[in-house]
Amino acid sequence: MEKVILTVAPTGAWPTKKETPYVPLQPEEIAAEVFACYQAGASVAHIHVRDDEDKASMSFEKFEKTVRLIRERCDIVLNLTTSGGLGLSDEERMKPFMELKPEMASYDCGSMNWGHSSVFINSPSFLEKLGMTMKEIGVKPEIEVFDAGMVYNAEYYLNKGILDSPPHYQFVLGAPGGMSATVENLVFLKSRIPETATWSALGIGKGHLPILYTSLALGGNIRVGMEDNIYYSKGVLAKSNVEFVERAKRIAAELGKEIATPDETRELLGLRRQTI
Ligand code: ZN
Repeated sequence: MEKVILTVAPTGAWPTKKETPYVPLQPEEIAAEVFACYQAGASVAHIHVRDDEDKASMSFEKFEKTVRLIRERCDIVLNLTTSGGLGLSDEERMKPFMELKPEMASYDCGSMNWGHSSVFINSPSFLEKLGMTMKEIGVKPEIEVFDAGMVYNAEYYLNKGILDSPPHYQFVLGAPGGMSATVENLVFLKSRIPETATWSALGIGKGHLPILYTSLALGGNIRVGMEDNIYYSKGVLAKSNVEFVERAKRIAAELGKEIATPDETRELLGLRRQTI
């Protein structure tokens, strides 16, 4: 059966306990949730952490604890964010993956306005440094694309040898200031990447299901979780990230596809197994 990589992004930078009491925010909660998602069949965990006030953070201590607690429980592929908050230094953004050596980390391939009051900055010098460092220590970049220009920006870094081939993309659709979560946009983006590339996609909020179905139909991989969407259905909060994992697994099965195990994911993406 065709294998599909299912990433779960349980936390993200934005949802608060006020918006949903079910979002896991501190290391023990995140690790327990990731383990439950692993048991439900998730292939990869995309990790963000929060500070003691539950705000978006790149705290190394929180990452260290979270990663350790997950690794004690299971061998799910780890993908750490490099953008857990705005206005952070390059060093703060890079330290978690440099020290903890997950198999993957996010590579946000350009800057954009984030909504109407902030700017998500990924400067040329940061992207160059980030790409070279990931290459050096064997962490696979997940090229996050929020807008079409970022695909062309990635092409530049691929041509320059800062990103290795074959690349892996994550199309993030429906972010405030980015491309909207429509079937047409995903079809277009998918047509612009190298033939040898692997890719995954997600829609934020109500775009979640249309993008999940489209991604599977186009032969892509998928991502679910409260980073992107806190509602299981209209007006109904998901009580756990596991609900999203289980639904994605059912949908994939209906399409004749099977979710890849962590080891199958390592093979599909050419990951080098990392240990502390
Ligand atoms: Zn993220």
